[in-house]
Parts: sequence; C-alpha cells; structure tokens
Amino acid sequence: MTARILVVDDIPANVRLLEVRLLAEYFEVLTANNGPDAIETCENGKVDVVLLDVMMPGMDGFEVCKRLKGDPATSHIPVVMITALDQVSDRVRGLEAGADDFLTKPVNDLQLMTRVKSLVRLKSLTDELRLRASTTRNIGIEELLSRDFATDDVKPKVLLIDERRSSVERIQKMLRNSAELDVATDPNAGFFQAAETPYECVLISTAFSGFDVLRLCSQLRSLDRTRFLPIMLLADEGEEGRILRGLELGINDYLIRPIDQHELTARLRTQVRRKRYNDQLRASVAQTIEMAVIDGLTGLHNRRYLDSHLQTLFDRAAARRRPLSVMITDLDRFKSINDTYGHDGGDDVLREFARRLRKNVRGIDLACRFGGEEFVVVMPDTEGAVAEKVAERIRAEIAQAPFAIGSDGKTIEVTVSVGVSSLLKGTDSVAALMKRADLALYEAKSGGRNRVVAKAA
Ligand code: GH3
Ligand code: MG
Ligand code: MG
Repeated sequence: MTARILVVDDIPANVRLLEVRLLAEYFEVLTANNGPDAIETCENGKVDVVLLDVMMPGMDGFEVCKRLKGDPATSHIPVVMITALDQVSDRVRGLEAGADDFLTKPVNDLQLMTRVKSLVRLKSLTDELRLRASTTRNIGIEELLSRDFATDDVKPKVLLIDERRSSVERIQKMLRNSAELDVATDPNAGFFQAAETPYECVLISTAFSGFDVLRLCSQLRSLDRTRFLPIMLLADEGEEGRILRGLELGINDYLIRPIDQHELTARLRTQVRRKRYNDQLRASVAQTIEMAVIDGLTGLHNRRYLDSHLQTLFDRAAARRRPLSVMITDLDRFKSINDTYGHDGGDDVLREFARRLRKNVRGIDLACRFGGEEFVVVMPDTEGAVAEKVAERIRAEIAQAPFAIGSDGKTIEVTVSVGVSSLLKGTDSVAALMKRADLALYEAKSGGRNRVVAKAA
C-alpha cells in the first residue's frame, strides 16, 4: 500500500521521528511545521492522511483540522490528531473539529501503522468513488461533495451487540439523543440482524464469554450487505492485541472502557458521516452509469449501449458459427403525429411503442432506442426466417390496437416499418449487417409502409 502521509508538528524532532517510521513502511512522507503550511500542502498535493499535532504556536491543530474539514477540496482527507496527553476533553474537541482519529504521544508504533493503513484504505475507496463520479458526470458532483452530512438531522440507525446488561444500559443512555439504537445480546442473532437491517453503524462489545467477536467482525466484512457497514469495537483496557487484529480485519474504530459519552457520540458521528458520504457517492455513480446507457424516455438501452455491445454479440456469433439477426424499426409518418398531437403526444406514442416492442422480444435480445423514432433489436441465435416472423409479430402488434394519447382517452392508429438482416456466412461485418437492415427498411417504406422487409442471408 503506497500512500502520501503529511506529518504536521512544530518540533522538528517529532516530525523526524514519525517520518522515519512511516518511511520504513514505504509510505511517502510530506512534512509541515505549522498550520498554514499544512493546509496549503493539503490543497495542492495529493495527501492521503494527515497526522496533526494539537499544540502548535499560532494556529493550533484544532483550527487546522476545522479548516481542512470545512473546505470541500480537503474535507475528505482523514485527519489523525496527535495529542500530548491522553485527555478525553482534547479528543472531544478534536472530534468536534472533524478529526477522524487520535494517537497519543509517545505514539505506539503498531497502533500508528494500523491506524494509518486503515484510514488509507478508507480514503482510497472514497477517492475511487470521487474519481468515477467526476469523470462520468460533472454536474452535481460539487454540490454533492459540499453537502454537510454531519449536520444531518436524521438520527443514525445503530446496532449494539453486547451481552452484558449493565453495559447495554449505559450505552443506551449515552446514545438516547443521538442514535436509534437496537440491541442484540447474542452474537449470532446480531450478525443476522446486521445483515437484514440497514444499519449505519454497529457497536460490538469484545466482552463475550465463549465467543470470539473478531470472527463476527470478519463475517460482517465478507458479507456483501455489510461490507461497508462501519464497525466499532467496545474493548477493555489491555486488549490492544485484539484491537489491532480487529483493525487488520477492517473494523473502523474502537473505544476503551470506561467509555466517555462525548467520545462515543463524536466517533459514531464521524463513522456515520463517512458512510453517508460514501453511500451517496456510490448511488450517484450507479445512477450515472445507468443514465449513460439507458434511454430516459423509453427505459430501453440507448444507442451508446448498442454501439458498445453489438460488436461483442457479432463476434461471439461469428466465432461460434451461430446465427444472429437484427431489425431496425421506424414509425410511419411520425412527424405528422407530432404535428397533430404535439411533441408530448409523440412521446406517448414512443413510450407505448417501446412497451409493445419489449413485450415481443426475448430476454436475451437487445432492444435499443436507436434515435428519434427508430429502434433496433439484436437477436442472438436467431435465423433470418425466425427474425422475420418476430418482426411481423411486432408490426401486427402495433397496427392492431390504437395508441392512447394524453389522459383524455384520445387514441390514434400507428404503424411501423421494419427492416431485417442476418449474419452472413463468410465475410461480414457489423457495419454491413446494419447497412442491409437499413436498406430493407428503406424498401419497406417505399413499398408502402406498415410492412416487414428481410434481406435474405
Ligand atoms: P416515415 O414514415 O418516412 O418514417 O415518416 P416520418 O415522419 O416518421 O419521418 P422522419 O424520420 O422524417 O420523422 C421523424 C420525426 O420524429 C422527426 C422528429 O421531429 C421526431 N422525433 C425525433 N425524436 C423525437 C422524440 O424524442 N419525441 C418526439 N415526440 N418526436 C421525435
Ligand atoms: Mg425516422
Ligand atoms: Mg419514421
């Protein structure tokens, strides 16, 4: 794992100490010895994680963190605060400034590495989503990134898996105002509950008699539905080894008993914020991908999708010596439908045409809106004679029942012309195949419309 870590501390010896340890693990290291320089480096460079000293003259670590988290250009960079004292109040201040985690001086080596690695992993996920979202669609992404999920009024839905009643009651009290908390006292039941309910975080106590909670953590990480569910361990003093193994398995955070309410709510908020941010990005990426290949009016695939898939279907058929046919359909006198009933009336006809088309082709056929009122259906494993029958069935289906226009019961007769072509043995190409279908369509039009013409293979 290579990543760029920015170490910020006003004391050169402290910077050097962390730098040497990070370099030994093959991280790239950048350094800054004051707040403004650190912010500038984050704005300019590709920083993956910031290790930030709290006590610095001038601008202190809290202020630096707040500014980084307040700027959409840097808010996604994980910040680890390095506090001199193991002071809960410092941590709470840091978390309120938006810090993602804490380390206390002197920094424990293993903890430093595991922590940095786990944040780098999270960051690379976020980066990938940002990249994909921004390359596929520019509008909306900036707005999306600047949204502040921390101020979301929606209480997160959280699951606590803990068998000790006193501990459960304490957590319930602490989270009364900040989360919608469910409790599972049995770890196996908890696992199924986590898999079935859309939780935004799960808190798992390490204190189970006769059950290794790390197994539960690794199960949650390997299941699709819970892969991105943040996991926080509630551990006891002296369980360092188990926590480190947990971090390696992909748990997101941990708290050591006795648990401080501020720390718990602040860390929970950090996890939920990050999850919502990533969920939002993932959804926008999925939507963008769909928008790119689906025609908005009819819900059929669009021309771009056809262009990228027809060649594949063609090659597969040619390689296996299997038949392949295509049809191009074109609505008859469609311009006059638009002229008479307006563009919206025309759109109604297109939607209904697409519905009837879809109903009359098989699942493996590729039906696309080619453009305007032209549609293409690619039929794998289909001989020309069969394709011609399918085309005839579609033509009849269109002509036989009038189309409804608008909502006031108006109807209109619609007909369609269809050209069919099939893959030739010997030399053939996608372009030639489409050209033959187009010529057949032209013949259908000049022959009087409302008919099918097939180019014999
Ligand atoms: P022909 O029988 O020869 O095919 O006649 P036609 O009127 O259908 O011929 P032409 O291809 O010239 O006209 C197609 C019309 O389709 C022109 C265009 O205004 C209209 N059109 C293209 N896309 C859309 C759309 O998304 N919605 C609507 N309502 N009309 C569209
Ligand atoms: Mg046309
Ligand atoms: Mg037409």
